[in-house]
Amino acid sequence: MIEAKGLSKVFGSGDTQVHALRDVSLSIKENEFVAIMGSSGSGKSTLMNILGCLDTPSSGQYALAGQPVSSLDDTSLSAMRNQHIGFIFQSFHLLPRLTAAENVALPLRYTDIPTEIALQRAEHLLQQVGLGHRMDHKPYEMSGGQRQRVAIARALVNSPKVIFADEPTGNLDSKTSVEIMQLLTNLHQQGNTVVMVTHEDEIAAYAQRVIRMRDGIIIEDSLCQA
Ligand code: ADP
Ligand code: MG
Repeated sequence: MIEAKGLSKVFGSGDTQVHALRDVSLSIKENEFVAIMGSSGSGKSTLMNILGCLDTPSSGQYALAGQPVSSLDDTSLSAMRNQHIGFIFQSFHLLPRLTAAENVALPLRYTDIPTEIALQRAEHLLQQVGLGHRMDHKPYEMSGGQRQRVAIARALVNSPKVIFADEPTGNLDSKTSVEIMQLLTNLHQQGNTVVMVTHEDEIAAYAQRVIRMRDGIIIEDSLCQA
């Protein structure tokens, strides 16, 4: 599903140059549940953004679902994202003026799926994440956990091949975090590939495989015990 070879990412130039990734190679198979761990600044988000086609590497090769992406232009990258990838962020990234259902349906606006069908699909997904009674609520009318459920439903709306979650429980209390992790675990059990960034051991424990980063390199890649 994910084949990355020799990925490097350099930000800035001259004295202020930062090597966020140094020669990172990684492969992730379909239906794996992977946690990427490491302290702040170790390159987790940079790696995630490249794997999620939000950013391109300075050098190295990357193929997603058999398609080479490291050389794509912005238009093709965003097409790749719309078709194959679902994102979940720490701060939810919902649009404040849209209802839950409209937020979930939003990624489909850039496809040829009619609005009516898109909204039906959004409502179905909101029911699946336990928010059937909150379809018409705006983000500010919902708790953090509910907002993250909306974001998860939105991540699923294009039936992605891979779900990327960057610190999905970073803004949630521990009880809500457990609920969100149960949802991600369900998605994995339904056959989805899930790649999640976290710096918390309890959260990483939900994954099957843990990749640890430090200073832009992978220092450990291990399978978790069941
Ligand atoms: P993590 O997610 O593990 O905290 P990041 O991938 O965000 O780490 O950052 C890795 C390094 O790259 C850090 O030193 C960070 O300051 C730097 N960095 C990340 N994004 C940028 C950027 N857009 N411009 C300049 N430096 C960046
Ligand atoms: Mg980060």
